[in-house]
Amino acid sequence: MKPLRSLVVLAMVGGLVATVAIPAFAATAGAGVEEARTIQQMAVDDAQTFVAASDANATQLSRGSYAATTAEEIEKKKAEEAAAERARQVAKLAAASAKSLPVNIALTSPGTGEVRWPILNFTKGRGLWDSGYHQGVDLLSSCGTPIYAAAAGVVKVSQESYGGYGVGVSIDHVIGGQQVNTLYGHMTYGSRQVSVGQSVSAGQLIGLVGSTGSSTACHLHFEVHINGSVVDPWAWLQANAG
Ligand SMILES: [Zn+2]
Repeated sequence: MKPLRSLVVLAMVGGLVATVAIPAFAATAGAGVEEARTIQQMAVDDAQTFVAASDANATQLSRGSYAATTAEEIEKKKAEEAAAERARQVAKLAAASAKSLPVNIALTSPGTGEVRWPILNFTKGRGLWDSGYHQGVDLLSSCGTPIYAAAAGVVKVSQESYGGYGVGVSIDHVIGGQQVNTLYGHMTYGSRQVSVGQSVSAGQLIGLVGSTGSSTACHLHFEVHINGSVVDPWAWLQANAG
């Protein structure tokens, strides 16, 4: 079982790298092409200006000094263009993160139990071991739905890129004298509300449902490990959450 799991994990990580790396490269290449085109166009504009200017000021302007000025102008325009592009990217990121953290989200789930449902509005998707290898349960919900800690504990993992889980959080708990670990995968980028080592209370907001990592639809992938072994998280929630 162990070598097989390692292979699957490697495949998941590989898939993640491909998913992340290809759009990133495409975006960079796209920006480069755009920039190159812009500079070429500016060069054409400057060349046209040069013809007109040299006709009018042939005696006052040496070819050398004019060429230097043109080069400076191109550099200046290039710098301005780059600064404008950076400003556009910053504005885009700010808009995206503002969108992922709506202000009207409850910071604590409404439950009262020692164990809580990690999300409140969902449809049950794949369960434990469905499709051959699936260590948890998929709770289908809209992207942006708040995710809450299933119990009080200490954050063990909180990463924007946690292998195939995408944006992932895992929390260590002691429940009924047992070492319990819960894991939350595919969260929205930039939505994590907890960091490693942080103590959380039951039902505390930890992030928002997304579709990051090895995921094709908005959902929470939820796992439960007790004393190091995977247990059926759906059965565990049904028996304990309230
Ligand atoms: Zn899943």
